[in-house]
Amino acid sequence: MVSGIVMELHGKSIIGGRPVSSANAKTFSAIGAVTGEPLPTTFHETTPAEADQALKLAEQAFEEYRALPPDRIAAFLIRAAEEILKLGEDLLQRANQETALPEQRLIGECARTVNQLKMFAEIVREGSWLEATIDRGLPDRKPMPKPDLRRMLIPLGPVVVFGASNFPLAYSVAGGDTASALAAGCPVVVKAHPAHPGTSEMVARAIGLAIEATGMPPGIFSMVHGTGNDIGMQLVKHPATKAVGFTGSLQGGRALFDAAAVRPEPIPVYAEMGSTNPVFILPGALKQKGSAIAEGLMQSVTMGVGQFCVNPGLVFGQQDENWRAFSERTGQLAAGIAPGVMLHQGICNRFEQGTAQFQKIPGVSIAGKSSVEATKGRAPALVFSTDSKTFQQQPALREEVFGPSTLLVSCGSTAELEQIARGLNGQLTATIHGTDEDLAEHKNLIAILRQKAGRLVFNQFPTGVEVCPSMQHGGPYPATTDSRTTSVGAYAIKRFARPVAFQNFPEASLPPELQNKNVRQIWRLIDNQFTKADV
Ligand code: NAP
Repeated sequence: MVSGIVMELHGKSIIGGRPVSSANAKTFSAIGAVTGEPLPTTFHETTPAEADQALKLAEQAFEEYRALPPDRIAAFLIRAAEEILKLGEDLLQRANQETALPEQRLIGECARTVNQLKMFAEIVREGSWLEATIDRGLPDRKPMPKPDLRRMLIPLGPVVVFGASNFPLAYSVAGGDTASALAAGCPVVVKAHPAHPGTSEMVARAIGLAIEATGMPPGIFSMVHGTGNDIGMQLVKHPATKAVGFTGSLQGGRALFDAAAVRPEPIPVYAEMGSTNPVFILPGALKQKGSAIAEGLMQSVTMGVGQFCVNPGLVFGQQDENWRAFSERTGQLAAGIAPGVMLHQGICNRFEQGTAQFQKIPGVSIAGKSSVEATKGRAPALVFSTDSKTFQQQPALREEVFGPSTLLVSCGSTAELEQIARGLNGQLTATIHGTDEDLAEHKNLIAILRQKAGRLVFNQFPTGVEVCPSMQHGGPYPATTDSRTTSVGAYAIKRFARPVAFQNFPEASLPPELQNKNVRQIWRLIDNQFTKADV
């Protein structure tokens, strides 16, 4: 990572490319995740008038932006990636102060952010994502002629994105939601997460530089600040907003989803929320490599202090001596893991409350815990253990506890494992550890889990989400509000577009992607055949 450009933070909202703050705005500071002390720079909360202005500018800019040639949008996304890279060490340092995420993790996240922008630039330039579909007319068809019909995706309009606390770069201001919405041709208004406003400002200004350098309409990007729910709600309710991208709590995501649904014009909310990511360890695997699975599990549970939406929070297996040895080993490993600093005090408080609630439930015990006492802002590694009966009687044990803890649940039989799987909530992931024989004997379990989760993992762990076209990061509610979509990977772009069909249109009035000559050389479905040929 290069030494970055020196950027003095101004602490203002960025509305249509300009820093904006009003004299009577409320102010707040970022809190150092390690120190618990305010960091330099006073941030100004966005006023309702400024938020309104951001969406009006986005609405105006949409007209021009959606009509731009794809190469220009691609050039803008690539330039945004380059401008973020230029922030170098400054960005990493500020993000580290605000989140306590270590430098190596932030370097990885920065690379992911930059690569996502470049990936979407390539998708836009290549063009096949538009799903151009052509059915030629058959004027002589009997009894009715068939009309010429041509269909493709078009952008929805301004998108509101809520920055995630746990990915200050890859799922915040220029993260996957923003990159995919801009790539689809939608202007974006970001609500910066109040836990990392300085990191957010730096990235927003990098996007601003890219807008200027590539001649984009400035209204395509704004970033607002706020420490309460009001400003986010206002953005979601604004008539110019056409879709929302969110990563965070179930309560927050659900509140925004409900608000969007009761608008005079309801809009889609793509909220990625809670998931307990169950792991099923089948008897053969447990016997063969229980200790290695325990090690992999604890690495996955405590990676990033457990602050991943795909953190494995529930582990199921059949009670026998191998399960007992596995539980014991998992507990021992937890004891050797030092408490880690969490992203912000609020998340730490919720972890403490969640784990305290588990401890109060009769039949739940602690199999292992960090042997070093956790100080303020830090969370210990924690392994709970219980039996299937308690698990089934206590709905609280199904709730996500965001942080470095997991619950081991012993079951009596294969039938009980299946019964438990049937009762699980919707999940981002479900994991199976097994041998070939285990798989053959647990076909039902796999069939059940397929209905419950967006991604099934075999003999690995769910943490570490690859960004590529085949990734699915989304699952049935409450994991997300729309299981048909993904928030990671190439298909994320489809969330911000809708199909439109042109019937019997003259060639010259069709978008280039639907004209007879395939000028962009994209994949098109013509009369049910995928082809790059002309009509
Ligand atoms: P959060 O509380 O859901 O907040 C995320 C963003 O949404 C913030 O900008 C927040 O604004 C806004 N927001 C939340 N509720 C809102 C509402 N009712 N109306 C309008 N805006 C609202 O998430 P967080 O701060 O990242 O972490 C809190 C908890 O969320 C964690 O303890 C964890 O349980 C969960 N979480 C889950 C994931 C996941 O991927 N599953 C990721 C991160 C967090 P304000 O802060 O200004 O209110």
